[in-house]
Amino acid sequence: MSSKRIDLTYGFSTHAVHAGEAINETRSHINPVFQTSTFKFANAEEGHRMFAGEHSGYVYSRLGNPTVELLETKVAALEGKNLIAQAEKRGGHLSVYAIAFASGMSAISTVALSILSPGDHLVTDNILYGCTNSLFMNTLPRMNIGVTFVDCSNPDNVQRALEEHPNTKMVYLETPANPTMKLSDIGAIAGLCKGGVRLVVDNTFATPILQRPLELGADIVIHSTTKYISGHGIALGGMAVSTDKELFDNSIYPAIIDTGGNPSPHDAWLINMGLKTLAIRMERHCRNALEIAHWLEQHPKVERVYYPGLPSHPQKELAEQQMDGFGGIISFTVKGGLESSRRVLDNVELCTLAVSLGCV
Ligand code: PLP
Repeated sequence: MSSKRIDLTYGFSTHAVHAGEAINETRSHINPVFQTSTFKFANAEEGHRMFAGEHSGYVYSRLGNPTVELLETKVAALEGKNLIAQAEKRGGHLSVYAIAFASGMSAISTVALSILSPGDHLVTDNILYGCTNSLFMNTLPRMNIGVTFVDCSNPDNVQRALEEHPNTKMVYLETPANPTMKLSDIGAIAGLCKGGVRLVVDNTFATPILQRPLELGADIVIHSTTKYISGHGIALGGMAVSTDKELFDNSIYPAIIDTGGNPSPHDAWLINMGLKTLAIRMERHCRNALEIAHWLEQHPKVERVYYPGLPSHPQKELAEQQMDGFGGIISFTVKGGLESSRRVLDNVELCTLAVSLGCV
């Protein structure tokens, strides 16, 4: 788990390149991969003091690894930079904590297990990434955790669900949502999450370059770092980020240690390499996507295009309010139904016909 201090004078692009990249002993230009399961103790006494929490240091990679921590520091810097700066401007102090996971689903399930207990309730959107939907629909109810799916694009629906289920402990949003590009108003819904209800936001589609849910009042941000943050389709990873030290120290960190959803150091290293160019990639993704969305929208064989940057998107105003760009994902329906859609998919040339997103 990382909560290292960062230099607030730098912008997002600089943090993506430099945050956490402390000079190592060898002064290698690129930080090494600490591809190790365990770390040596100088002697039994040091080992004893480390286990007693009296001496800091690395023990075992499931408990912490320098390569993984570097990635955590970088994502925490990007999600939290503005919040930390605002706190310091007011004369206060704030830390942002991040924990890396082996996949986005590992981050989501571990956070859900950390917050929800049998008898608790979850309120979430009716449009979610398929495996998140399955986790909420099938796995959580087996643990006696109730789930209500509502259309979160209207905060009144969330308000109503919270009133109907006073045992709600977590509200979970994905915005923009996979695959319909539906948005939820993070600030408005954060305002409804009172009295111990945690707002968790999956920020995979936007990345911290385009949207920072913690600034809008969310308690935890989730990423599948497999996607844009890695950027090259070469590793799986996940991340949870929050300013809530108690939640991280007492719930999420113990949960990842106990469930073992840690990333391999090599995957963390690969994702960190990709992350360095995140800011510039997102800028180009946004520009390309807007142009393609406009082109699709005027195509005679296209029925409808779903992209928050288009004037036809019903939530364009909200996108402009809570995002710094509209992202690289476009959904569209073609005229002629399934058969026509199949013909389009079978004729893609430059695009890869595959799942996932966010590669160059
Ligand atoms: N969240 C969103 C929005 C996703 O699109 C995905 C995967 O496609 C996930 C979470 C799950 O991430 P992973 O595949 O890294 O487990």
